[in-house]
Formats: sequence, C-alpha cells, structure tokens
Amino acid sequence: MTTSAMATRSSEHSYDVAIVGGGIMGTASAYYLAKAGVSVGLFEKGRVGGEQSSRNWGAVRQQQRDPAELPLMIESVRLWAGLEEELGTGLDWNQQGHLALVYDKKTGAEFEKWIPVGREHGLDTRMLTAKEVHDLMPHYRDSDCRGGLFTSSDGCAEPEKVAVAFARAASAKGAEIFELTSVSSIETQNVSACALWTEHGRIKANTIVVTTGAWTSRLLKPLGTRHPSLWIRGNVARTNVLPIEIRKLLVWGKCAYRQRSDGRVNIAAARIAFHDLMTDSFVYGTKFLPVAKDHWGSFRLSVGGHAVRSLIGEFDDFTTHRTLDPRPEWKVLQEAGKLFAKEYPEAGPITFERAWGGFIDYMPDELPVVGEVPGYGGLFMAAGFSGHGFGMGPVIGRVMADLVQGKPVGHDLRPFSPKRFSKGFRSREPEHA
Ligand SMILES: Cc1cc2nc3c(=O)[nH]c(=O)nc-3n(C[C@H](O)[C@H](O)[C@H](O)COP(=O)(O)OP(=O)(O)OC[C@H]3O[C@@H](n4cnc5c(N)ncnc54)[C@H](O)[C@@H]3O)c2cc1C
Repeated sequence: MTTSAMATRSSEHSYDVAIVGGGIMGTASAYYLAKAGVSVGLFEKGRVGGEQSSRNWGAVRQQQRDPAELPLMIESVRLWAGLEEELGTGLDWNQQGHLALVYDKKTGAEFEKWIPVGREHGLDTRMLTAKEVHDLMPHYRDSDCRGGLFTSSDGCAEPEKVAVAFARAASAKGAEIFELTSVSSIETQNVSACALWTEHGRIKANTIVVTTGAWTSRLLKPLGTRHPSLWIRGNVARTNVLPIEIRKLLVWGKCAYRQRSDGRVNIAAARIAFHDLMTDSFVYGTKFLPVAKDHWGSFRLSVGGHAVRSLIGEFDDFTTHRTLDPRPEWKVLQEAGKLFAKEYPEAGPITFERAWGGFIDYMPDELPVVGEVPGYGGLFMAAGFSGHGFGMGPVIGRVMADLVQGKPVGHDLRPFSPKRFSKGFRSREPEHA
C-alpha cells in the first residue's frame, strides 16, 4: 500500500490535496477525494492506523451522542453498512446494536432522557427490561442488571482493519500514501497554506488537511492556532477464544466488551480513563474543569514519566514516537476481566493474550474540531474526536472531501468549528526548515 519512501523521490512533489495523518480520518478523506478524481498525497509519521484508529473498542454508536453530532453519525452508519462492499474487503462490520447496561435507578433515568433525542432523529433507541437484556445475551448472568439502553441500528467493526482498508482503496484510486514520513511544519504564503515540510522534503499542495489526532495541537501551534486538546489514556485487553457466543455488539456495563469474529473478546474498563500529567495539562487544564466535574470519579491522574518527557520536549518532534504506544494499565484491565468472568461464568477461565493503551485526543467540550483553520486559506482540519471518532470516520472522510472541493457537505458543521477555540489567535508566517 505504501508508496516507497519519499527519500527516493527525485524532486519536490505536488498534490491538489495533501493530508497529514493516516488514521481513519485521514485515510477516509484520502479515499473520498481520490474517488472524486482529486490528486491526493497522504503523509503518516508511522504506520497507517497505528494510533487511535486501530486501538479503539470498535463501537459505531449513534446512541447517547451529542445532538450536534447525530446527523453526521446517522449518515456514518449508512456508510458503514455499505463499506465492506465499497472498499472491497472485510471489516467485521456487525449491525447488532449498542447496549448500555443499567444497575441503578439514577442511571436508568439518565439514560431514558436521551430517548426523545434519538426519536427526534428517527432512531429506534429504547429501554430494555432486565429480562430483555438476558434474552438478548443468553450467557449473561448478572442479577444486578436492571435493564439497558439499546439502539439496534448501532454497530461495531474491527478497528485494526478499517484505516488500512481505506488507505488501500484510496491508493487503488490513485492516492499516494507515504508511511514513515512525518510532517514537521505547514508552510503558508499570504495567509494561505501552500506546502508541507516532511522529513524527506517539501511537498506543494493547493489544500492541506490536518488529521493528526493526538498530535494536532503540536502541528498547528506554530501557525498560532489554538487546539486545546489533552491526551486521555484508554486501555484494552484481548482474551483467549471463548467457548460462548456473545451477540456481536458493544456492551457498556460494569466493563465494556465486544466479541471479535474469531471468538476472542476485547475487554476494557468502562468507567476509568487516565490522564498522564504533561506540560499541556498545565496549559489547557482549566478548560477541562467542567468536563472533569461531569466525569468525576472516571478520571485517574497519573504523575510520572510523561511529565518529565514532555518537559524535555520528547513529544515536540514528530519522529520520536512513530506510533504512540502507551503502556496499558494491567491492574484496571484485570479488574475488568474479573467482572466479565463473573457476568459470563460459562466463558470458563479467561486469559489475556495481549493488552494495549491508546491516547485519545480529548477536547474541553467533547466535540470534534472539523472545518477550515481560522486565518488561513486552504488549510482544513478534522481532529479532537474525544474518544468517539471511529464511528464517525466514514462520514468525516466524505465531508472533508466535499468541504475541500467547495461542495455542499449537507451538515451543519458550526458546532465543530475550529474558531470556537481561536479567541486571540494570531496569524503569522510559520518558521519551517
Ligand atoms: C482505547 C480507545 C477506545 C476508543 N473507543 C472508541 C469506540 O469504541 N468508538 C469510537 O467511535 N471511537 C473510539 N475511540 C476514539 C477513536 O479511536 C478516535 O476518535 C479515532 O480513531 C480518531 O481518528 P484520527 O484519524 O483522528 O486519529 P488517529 O487514529 O490517532 O490518527 C492520527 C494519525 O496522525 C499521525 N500523525 C500525527 N502527527 C503527524 C505528523 N506530524 N506527520 C505525519 N503523521 C502524523 C499519527 O501517527 C496517527 O497515525 C477510542 C479511542 C481509544 C484510544
């Protein structure tokens, strides 16, 4: 899939659209652009899909979304349903619903409040009784369960397959994908983006799309663009093949889990995420106080290596970490595994074959940042998906492709405007190599 290293290229190259970052957002954008006949180059510092896009839980969820995201997400589910055919490969797509379990009255009442939101957008979200939950998942044996919130049109897919599939399909349509090619800066002329500086040289482009996930604030900072995102560390573990079949849906209860097509189950701690203190924590921290208050009890602050490593500038260079691969929290995962084993006694002994962490790019309002970067022509971004961007990947790719071509996107993108964080932004020519 990868076009040979940039170093082997004879001279400066140019594209209509240059994309920075090869996660699901970048590769889906590349695909829809290439499909429209636009010349595209995509530059990824590590491997396609290596960061969040392959490390997530795999939920494609409309349920409990912010209402501003719902129209996009509903279109995304439509795209997911035809994606295996569109991309010509299996993605382990299953449309068997999303289930959030309820153990107490208060949570049940909270969940119920979302039903009219879903209904207004034509979704089939409903409360299930405990009996209906047990009927849905015959091996589930937790007598604490009082029911659940269920949307049958939600789905899930295998994260390890999707960005790679988009990149391959984009490449087949003429896009050029460069792995191990980091972008160190974006060059502008007369406040319009005009080129990228990669570790292998300069790339001219009429339009630049930034889809750099957790690295976005670092890439845009020299342009004076504020993108106050913090890294939140999620953790996932994968079991051995289990002798039971759980319906192929994502369940969010005492722990979160999804059974893969090979019978293994990905398990995560549903209610615990970590923030490793870094220099950014002090720069943007106060903006996160409201969201931290809302999720009080879910966040764990971790003070250690990341603080020192960010102080010495380890994360300022895009070549030091080709793929962010944070250590998983074994203790928390083992707890999640024990909860799962109690809920599914027929699963027998559970062992974890592997575990991994992933840094989520979290925004203070938990909404993504999608649109034109303020102050610069020809510079667009799609980042800050705050832990729920996998499901939105296909629609964001479609939207970015239309947006940069100046076509109507069919959605109100104002709630996601990059301008919402740009108070006091200054536009200036960036320094580049
Ligand atoms: C543990 C976990 C669980 C999650 N669960 C879900 C879920 O169930 N459902 C859901 O919808 N979402 C989930 N998410 C969130 C989802 O994974 C992300 O929102 C989504 O993958 C973001 O895609 P992206 O393309 O923006 O970012 P990424 O996949 O992180 O891709 C960004 C890419 O940009 C590259 N890059 C960065 N800087 C540069 C540079 N300067 N030059 C070149 N390349 C660069 C990086 O190497 C990276 O490959 C979860 C995330 C995690 C970590």
